[in-house]
Amino acid sequence: MAIAIYECPACGWVGPADRPLWRCACGSHLNLMPGQPFARRAIVAGEASLWRYAGALALRSPPQVSLGEGWTPLLRRDWNGANIHFKLESQMPTGSFKDRGTAVMLNHLLEFGVGPLHEDSSGNAGASIATYAAAAGVPCRVYVPAAAPHAKLVQIAASGADLQPVVGTRQDVTDAALAAAGASFYASHNWQPFFIEGTKTLAFELWEQLGYRAPDNILVPTGYGSNILGLDRGFDELERGGEIASWPRLFAVQAANCAAFAAAWSAGADDFVAFSAGPTVADGIASPRPVRMAEVLAALRRSRGGVVAVAEEEIAPALAALGRLGLFVEPTAATAGAALTRLLSDGTITPDQTTVAVLTGSGLKASDRIGELLEVGRGR
Ligand SMILES: [Zn+2]
Repeated sequence: MAIAIYECPACGWVGPADRPLWRCACGSHLNLMPGQPFARRAIVAGEASLWRYAGALALRSPPQVSLGEGWTPLLRRDWNGANIHFKLESQMPTGSFKDRGTAVMLNHLLEFGVGPLHEDSSGNAGASIATYAAAAGVPCRVYVPAAAPHAKLVQIAASGADLQPVVGTRQDVTDAALAAAGASFYASHNWQPFFIEGTKTLAFELWEQLGYRAPDNILVPTGYGSNILGLDRGFDELERGGEIASWPRLFAVQAANCAAFAAAWSAGADDFVAFSAGPTVADGIASPRPVRMAEVLAALRRSRGGVVAVAEEEIAPALAALGRLGLFVEPTAATAGAALTRLLSDGTITPDQTTVAVLTGSGLKASDRIGELLEVGRGR
């Protein structure tokens, strides 16, 4: 496998991904050049993890660390009269979709000798990085909002990582991690583009699990947009490999109380526009300043999809409805159910189409908050 190539969207720098980098010298984030076309003959059929697509990943060698991530179930359930495919990213090793990106990013960094690392996270990415760093024997520090769900903080601490709760906004947490860059490697899932190299395997899995077909619609709870960018990258490789005839519409689902993409989308903007952010129970997608705004908006437009912003009061009913289908997810993931209800009722998606809702995180991540939302123990 050839070494992947970085390109900087700001200054135009192009260079080999042959050392641990998290951003360009000019200060911008970096992207990876488009990958090779991917076709089904390259699938490692006996491998029940995302490593069945190892031939498509921009790594030099087999993984040094894996916890069996990927190849998550795709279940069909009725939702308001439509047959919907639910993708259970909640069943990853650490309970969230982040493990796809973490596994590939960390293996890339290990190939080039990364040492102690740190990360900032609303909780799930921190738990994922901390767990994989522990499995790889690499020291790890994680900055998180002090108000993150208790279970996520416990999960990070249990891996032996140095847990650093930060009082303030999500941006304050990122600023604390940025200030530490240099003292250790900033292995940021929001900056490092190999995280998206990992999330692209979501596209491959959906295509393979649907009988080598792209669905018509994919709904994804979206904070920074790494799944949207991974789907865009993966379906691009499949299209160039001659494997799909149509492209799915991608719908980014946000909590209306903190919806950077919805604000830009409704303004018709190509990049960030100022908006006011408030608290939301969907803590995993409360992202005031996503790094790759322009790339995510472009991917949504290219797919002819869109952005759905759901209100707080839509989230608990969706979470309850999912639970009654046997799908116990955290409030962040339940926004996909709320968006499904919305898009089915307004006719944007129809029951005859193939629609996937990505359930990004397990209910075990936030059982205290779910108990409050569903008023468990209070007569219900
Ligand atoms: Zn640059």
